[in-house]
Amino acid sequence: MNARAHWNVVVIGAGPAGSVAAYQLARAGLQVALIERSDGPRYKVCGGCLNQRGLSVLEQCGLGDVVRDQFTAPLRQIVFHRDARQIAINGQVGAIVNRATFDAALAAAAVQAGAQLFGGVKAIVEPLDASTATHESATRAISLQRIDGSHYRILTDFVVVADGLGRPSLQRLAEFDAVTARNSRLGIGVTPSAALASAGYEPATLSMALADDGYLGVARLADGRLCIGAAIDAAVARRGALDRWISGTIARCELPAINGLTSASIRGTRPLTQRPARTASHRIVLIGDAAGYTEPITGEGMAWGLAAAVAVTPFALKACREWRSELAAAWGRTLRRDVYGGQYVNRLLAATLRRPHYARRVFAAAAALPSLTAPIVRHLNRPQAVARIEA
Ligand SMILES: Cc1cc2nc3c(=O)[nH]c(=O)nc-3n(C[C@H](O)[C@H](O)[C@H](O)COP(=O)(O)OP(=O)(O)OC[C@H]3O[C@@H](n4cnc5c(N)ncnc54)[C@H](O)[C@@H]3O)c2cc1C
Repeated sequence: MNARAHWNVVVIGAGPAGSVAAYQLARAGLQVALIERSDGPRYKVCGGCLNQRGLSVLEQCGLGDVVRDQFTAPLRQIVFHRDARQIAINGQVGAIVNRATFDAALAAAAVQAGAQLFGGVKAIVEPLDASTATHESATRAISLQRIDGSHYRILTDFVVVADGLGRPSLQRLAEFDAVTARNSRLGIGVTPSAALASAGYEPATLSMALADDGYLGVARLADGRLCIGAAIDAAVARRGALDRWISGTIARCELPAINGLTSASIRGTRPLTQRPARTASHRIVLIGDAAGYTEPITGEGMAWGLAAAVAVTPFALKACREWRSELAAAWGRTLRRDVYGGQYVNRLLAATLRRPHYARRVFAAAAALPSLTAPIVRHLNRPQAVARIEA
């Protein structure tokens, strides 16, 4: 890594949130380092469905082309299945992205805008030095570790932490320790592969299978491979044999069988519903999953991350000029108002799905009266306003 010793902004994590933040910050004229632990494109546990809110953010940032490529398929229908019942939501509901190519394209856009990407480098934010901890002018130091084990250190005026669930880069800062929801579900994802085959599952459709102990989504990527993501109870994860849970859940919902699951690679995540004690501190802000996450229902996670990425730009411009301690609380308010304002809908849906008795009744009512679901879908897909960047 040919690193400057000092950067205006260091963005940690080149997922959708980090790359779009780096892109916007570089366009605003700041010197931006984008640090990514992985070395090259990789599969990430995700259902791959980007909703209209996420698409609207990309369009307004000038990144619409990223989802007009051969790797992205339209998403026109979401069908919820519970036992033999179904609820279908039709219309242009979003896009089905291949997370490996989508994330790589966003990181490339950040580089094109002037950010410097350091791949295969793990970042750890250092605690403040006791002698400078009370000075608002004190900059932040980040330890970097390359894949080959070599270490070095850089300084920055501002850190954007976008390193996903669990915030690994903040392990030395206890002030960010998270509260995990009791009984939080865990995420699992099946690595897309040509060996996973099924005669069913139409293109442009997300099929959601709901069960008492979790739910899963199946969609077809643009190249025809199946993308499968699920949220499961901890007890299901403890029992193991996740391929059998997936097959059993699909069969109970009368969805087409998927061959090849027994030999598929299935990866898990940390508990999904968790929130850090704070979302900002001295010259540090959290965005995306790092800022807290609620169980996904039909794929809001990427849209939240993108919304936070664009909200951080005007904030970072101010913070780089002069950090003031009240900015930390201001970032918390911005997140609550502009990014997570509608998360109560997800929390309500997630809580309902956790209670089989209510879940069955609500599902039966929505299946009988499909118009009940329309306001929820409109709410989850509402467009996001993106502020103009002024350097
Ligand atoms: C089962 C499941 C299904 C889902 N389905 C959907 C869906 O259909 N649609 C949707 O919108 N969302 C979905 N989500 C949520 C979505 O995947 C996340 O919300 C989204 O990836 C968050 O983006 P992010 O940029 O905040 O973090 P991430 O995408 O997690 O990116 C974080 C990046 O930081 C890097 N990193 C971590 N630590 C370090 C470090 N110390 N130094 C440097 N780099 C580091 C990681 O390698 C990674 O690239 C799903 C989640 C799960 C678990």
